Amino acid sequence: MPTPAAALDLLLLPTWLVPVEPAGVVLKDHGLGIRDGRIAFIGPRDAALKLMATEVRELPGMLLSPGLINAHGHAAMTLFRGLADDLPLMTWLEQHIWPAEGKWVDEAFVRDGTDLAIAEQIKGGITCFSDMYFFPKVASERVHNSGIRAQIAIPILDFPIPGASSADEAIRQGVELFGELKHHPRIKIAFGPHAPYTVSDENLEKVRIITEELDAAIHMHVHETAFEVQQSLEQRGERPLARLARLGLLGPRLQAVHMTQVSEQDLALLVESNTSVVHCPESNLKLASGFCPVERLWQAGVNVAVGTDGAASNNDLDLLGETRTAALLAKAVAGSATALDAHRALRMATLNGARALGLESDVGSLEVGKCADLVAFDLTGLAQQPIYDPVSQLIYATSRDCVKHLWVAGKQLLDDRRLTRLDEHQIVASATAWGRRIGGHTE
Ligand SMILES: [Zn+2]
Repeated sequence: MPTPAAALDLLLLPTWLVPVEPAGVVLKDHGLGIRDGRIAFIGPRDAALKLMATEVRELPGMLLSPGLINAHGHAAMTLFRGLADDLPLMTWLEQHIWPAEGKWVDEAFVRDGTDLAIAEQIKGGITCFSDMYFFPKVASERVHNSGIRAQIAIPILDFPIPGASSADEAIRQGVELFGELKHHPRIKIAFGPHAPYTVSDENLEKVRIITEELDAAIHMHVHETAFEVQQSLEQRGERPLARLARLGLLGPRLQAVHMTQVSEQDLALLVESNTSVVHCPESNLKLASGFCPVERLWQAGVNVAVGTDGAASNNDLDLLGETRTAALLAKAVAGSATALDAHRALRMATLNGARALGLESDVGSLEVGKCADLVAFDLTGLAQQPIYDPVSQLIYATSRDCVKHLWVAGKQLLDDRRLTRLDEHQIVASATAWGRRIGGHTE
């Protein structure tokens, strides 16, 4: 048992501690100590109580786990929540979302929308999220102010987007932002070519060169629908994933989002290259895009993370709910009730997300030395009783309203469901005002 050399800043004493690594473990009556934003101690309650700590906090009836990691989303799009529902992907994008973005998205929109998304995610147990949206510099400022952790992917498309008139300009801005934030303790800049059908070989080649040079991650929608794959086969004679492989983009730095279409050849490419997949089941269900074969990928050794996607196609940023959907859907897709069990589902929402984002040495599990990114779930409610396996209860019977406290790098961002650094009333008022403006002009 490691003994801290100096006093702990904070000692947490939950009823259950789920470290995620080692896998499948639930520690009863254990303590977790934090010093300088990192986990300094994990051990039995008796030993924990003998340690010096500036603050000791009892968490009776609570389950302490690594903070949830939302590995794919478009934060500011939360202001378009419910704007265009019940439509297929291309109709939704081309006739509704892209025109609305052209009309409304500016720096103020991204500022207010990102704040809304961050507040919702913190209250839902999320300590780290991946973002891919316009004006990424504004989003990174909001992340910096809020105390949450994020990967900000620079959106890159062949056509002009809000804030960048070309792919070259977007890449140039991305390189600049990457340099500015290189040493930021909570923000990581990645490059986000939107999708194979919106980015040319030439621009993908530029992304490959720059990400190799900077050792930066690539975040991309890949194989979201069968139509995408079919169109690529007709127009280019190759599947999108095979095209990315030919262009040298596959590898541990690539986060392939969606992957609802996985042939044997695709699977081999993912495994050989050690590419991560980000599964977004609710967005895929809502847009009728297809099903990512999570269990098949997992059994083949592919790292699968989970994401909510944007609130415009979900319509919430509830990663705990998303994980439950993923766990249920995996069984239906695999035709097996043993697929994606509760413990593996929690791992997908924590450590696998960290691995996908290249953050596994810092977050994703409760291990001494890692950052203290933690969430405490209150399992004392009616809906959780009785408790045989708290992880099973968490995944299958608990809603995000049971998130009680949350810390990022040892700083408490949610205290008894109250946001400590963000003004919830002001965020709601601002979102309501945006809704009035946007709704009034599109009806
Ligand atoms: Zn998306």
